[in-house]
Amino acid sequence: MTQTMTAQETPAIKVRKMRAVKTCDLCGSDALEEIAEATSSRCRTVMCQGCGLFFASPSLAVEELEDFYDDEFEGDAGTNRRVGGEGIETRKIAKEESIARDWAMPIITEHMDLADKTVLDIRCRSGGLAEMLSKAGAVVTAIDPLEPNADHARARNTIAQVDFLPVTQFTRLVENGYENFDAVTALTIHTLGHMPSPKAFLKSIFGTLKPGGYLFIDEKDLFYPARTHGSSVFDTGTAHFFHFSIDTIRGYLSSVGFEVLECGLDPARKKAFRHVRTVARKPLEGETAAADIPVCDPQARKAALHQAQASMQRKRLVNKLARKTRAAVRKVWS
Ligand SMILES: [Zn+2]
Repeated sequence: MTQTMTAQETPAIKVRKMRAVKTCDLCGSDALEEIAEATSSRCRTVMCQGCGLFFASPSLAVEELEDFYDDEFEGDAGTNRRVGGEGIETRKIAKEESIARDWAMPIITEHMDLADKTVLDIRCRSGGLAEMLSKAGAVVTAIDPLEPNADHARARNTIAQVDFLPVTQFTRLVENGYENFDAVTALTIHTLGHMPSPKAFLKSIFGTLKPGGYLFIDEKDLFYPARTHGSSVFDTGTAHFFHFSIDTIRGYLSSVGFEVLECGLDPARKKAFRHVRTVARKPLEGETAAADIPVCDPQARKAALHQAQASMQRKRLVNKLARKTRAAVRKVWS
């Protein structure tokens, strides 16, 4: 049965400090066009006319981030909201482990032999992937901005090092002592979209890698919505700063100096959005990767966005119809 909340029971939406964003993080252009106005489930969203990146402007202020993860974020098994309520959710941990085993590990082992390699696992969450990497022979350092996640990962006793590290420090990995890794993995949850500057984050990862080191990173493609909660592809919460597509992900990686080995829609991952399977490599000394920032055709971008929104609306109608049919069938058989 659905319960209706009265006005008094509705939790207040915390008013947070916002930060003006006047230029594009990827290409530096200041030609920004409003695409979606702000609502309770998103920030105002703009499109860069230079490279076609979509992002929040204004966005949540950087100094609000740590508090946001403590107070409002509830996506992980180990968020304070869950731990403070019913405790770490074992079902969520099992789900993380199955994605790590069936999806993430095959991508990694296709590109490298893990024996005796050093790996930095960013946003390790409950530690499922970090544990599997360790069992495959890697020496793993795992970091996460939620203490209950880090505690859970540490309690596995299978990962060489597990650290709590606030999101705001993810752009200062070398300064925090994380250096000389053979690989960086960020496959347990998408990270780029939640960084105040994906470029600063990727530069920081580039700095932690040895020459020839690999980056495995997960992100979603804005133009391929696969599930229909919310009424717009931008309704993904106020701490979601950036929305990507294959070309802007590729542009980010090459603008930082990575050689892009893989960057395409993954056939297996399509929960809320289709995921982009991305593998990049830091060039060896003497090699250089070509900087390749996408050039935007604003009309084509808007047409693609329009199509994505329309496909979302269609799915919503189909889901609604399916729900109604199921309810009717249940009524007949009850
Ligand atoms: Zn741009």
